[in-house]
Amino acid sequence: MTTPTCHTTHMGCPCCHGSDIIRDLWVRERTPALNNRLHATREQALAAPLGRVALALCRSCGFVFNHDFDDALVRYDKDYNSSRNDSPAYQAHLAETADFIAASLPRKAGHPGRVLEIGCGDGQFLRYLHEKGMDVCGYDPALPTHPPCPNGMELHGTCFAPESREERYDALVLRHVLEHIPTPGLFLRELLSAPSLESSMVAIEVPDLQWILDHHAPYDLTYEHCNYFRHESLVNLMNELGFSEYSFQRGYGGQYLISIFKRNNSSIIRQITPSEETIFSAMDTAQERLLHELFSHGPVSIWGASGKGVLLTASLPDSTLGQVKRVIDVDRKKQGLFLPGTGLEVCPPDVLTSVIEPGRVVVMNPVYTDEISRMLEAMGVKTDVTCIA
Ligand SMILES: [Zn+2]
Repeated sequence: MTTPTCHTTHMGCPCCHGSDIIRDLWVRERTPALNNRLHATREQALAAPLGRVALALCRSCGFVFNHDFDDALVRYDKDYNSSRNDSPAYQAHLAETADFIAASLPRKAGHPGRVLEIGCGDGQFLRYLHEKGMDVCGYDPALPTHPPCPNGMELHGTCFAPESREERYDALVLRHVLEHIPTPGLFLRELLSAPSLESSMVAIEVPDLQWILDHHAPYDLTYEHCNYFRHESLVNLMNELGFSEYSFQRGYGGQYLISIFKRNNSSIIRQITPSEETIFSAMDTAQERLLHELFSHGPVSIWGASGKGVLLTASLPDSTLGQVKRVIDVDRKKQGLFLPGTGLEVCPPDVLTSVIEPGRVVVMNPVYTDEISRMLEAMGVKTDVTCIA
């Protein structure tokens, strides 16, 4: 993840600079600023910074952004962990996305290509591309120290500095980066002017705002994500930068937009016809109904200690939070740590075999419902499994 250097204090749209903005479209007060950073003690978790999510919509380009975002509250470091490498469903998503990008790269004299990824996390996605024969290079200040790399693969625990590279890349990959950047247009314009990227295609993966709204998933509206794209607003942004969409697919159960862009002088701006106020309030009404249903039958175990689990628990009133008996995650690096906002401890799945009443298991992401149900069955735990979205 690259650390943004800009602060969203301007009144206009951070993408197109338009001034027709609807502010306070959707507001959540006191939300954990970093929902993928867990804490070593309950006290530290309870003292973790909180921020205000106040979404605004640009009527000109369709871009949605948090107009109260303060990047001083968001610092990505080695304790930031957005890895989902322990999940087969997530690995399948990485493999599918790597296939999609590889299929779009022009082969030069038989060589599969050279790829630069900014915000590469622990480099897991680049490993899939490397297995296809590509030379890969990744940058991320949240990179774990000294990861082992095979020949043809480089990982750097820093931000990308364009002047430091002389190679020419065939593709730039930005997976789950743009939604963390307060001014994505400016960020892309500067980045894409680097000589090493002058003939690169650009592969972008971001959460799809339309999926969040259609599936009534307010826990995908996070403080870390200071902006939100629909397919149309992403294409609009890249058109303005002189790129056309070459190929597109949805991934991860439809939750993510994955678009590949190539340089082109055409500038076809798609029309946005938003009716956002009603869509956001319909999401809230549906979610309230679901929470009432989920928490009115006794204790529950929340399965998933990443963003969605952190934001769900942090937004519950105390009376409902008391029903949450435990938070479970398969990631060993998260187990024994504490959630920001609530100070709940993360437990391993097998804790459910030693409790008399596990209570209903609430799964935070539909892509994991099947694998969690299979795991519970294998452990001999009989209980209801319900997904929140
Ligand atoms: Zn705009």
